[in-house]
Amino acid sequence: HAKNSGRGRAETFNADLARKAAGKEALERDLRAGLERGEFLLQFQPQIDVVANRAIVAEALVRWAHPERDMLFPATFVHVAEASGVIVELGDWIMDQVCETAARWARDGLAQRVAINISMRELSQADFFLRLRHAMTRHGTPPGAIELEITESMAMDMDARLRDQLQALRDSGVRIAIDDFGTGYSNLARLRDLPIDRVKIDSSLVRNIETSAEARIICSAVVALIQGLGLDVVIEGVETAGQVDILRVIGCTVFQGYHLAHPAHEPDYIARFGPAASSVLEA
Ligand code: C2E
Ligand code: MG
Ligand code: MG
Ligand code: MG
Repeated sequence: HAKNSGRGRAETFNADLARKAAGKEALERDLRAGLERGEFLLQFQPQIDVVANRAIVAEALVRWAHPERDMLFPATFVHVAEASGVIVELGDWIMDQVCETAARWARDGLAQRVAINISMRELSQADFFLRLRHAMTRHGTPPGAIELEITESMAMDMDARLRDQLQALRDSGVRIAIDDFGTGYSNLARLRDLPIDRVKIDSSLVRNIETSAEARIICSAVVALIQGLGLDVVIEGVETAGQVDILRVIGCTVFQGYHLAHPAHEPDYIARFGPAASSVLEA
């Protein structure tokens, strides 16, 4: 009896796995087709310096305008794109778009970098840096108009070769940021040796600062450490005015999150954060 129900569970489990595998394959095919059909697009979300009262970086966030579904967010397809390798082609498209956008914005006098999210799978491609340089050359993108976001765990796992390539890119003027800081296990001493300019503190470190004294203490210590190493701090996922108030007391001035602005299509972004925008904080 127990054996039967055990086997029953195993069969359900295997059927589930098979369904998932089939689903993944279908999604992978769909991703490639979507790329060919031009269904991907970028939205932009600002990092706002509340002291300077302006947006300093626009983070490019990929979306999929799937013909049969609502707009799909990266959580639903990026992991499959990474696992299947489609992320390399998708990433190439994103890289091209970001370089084109950053070049155009620089020509239009918009003093904002465009930040691009890079997955491990992309960064570990032997020709990643070459392809990035080619994309920048193709569009005439000033290196200072681009920022790379790599996650904390990617930064910590970097080998010497990758570190040198990143260093060379940074020497050319491209900024490097660590994304989602506080979600992995950082060797904090290593932060100092990495070729990086900025650290984006993950929203999970900020979520409870209004209600928890411990959360405030941890957040403030992390901010002090990063600033003490001479790196810029950005706080991600800021959702309330109360969080901004506390973080300003802690010493933070650059924020990204729904409280300041949601990701938006380029025309809406430019209307609110472009050269003609007077104050980015009202609205
Ligand atoms: P991320 O790089 O940490 O981006 C921040 C995510 O948080 C974005 O989700 C953004 O829309 C969302 N967000 C911003 N403000 C708030 C807030 O106040 N509250 C909450 N709850 N969320 C907020 P999104 O666009 O769904 O992207 C999710 C993740 O997918 C990104 O996390 C990034 O890791 C990945 N991703 C996005 N675009 C790309 C891309 O072009 N290439 C690659 N490789 N990965 C990407
Ligand atoms: Mg990011
Ligand atoms: Mg992040
Ligand atoms: Mg994230």
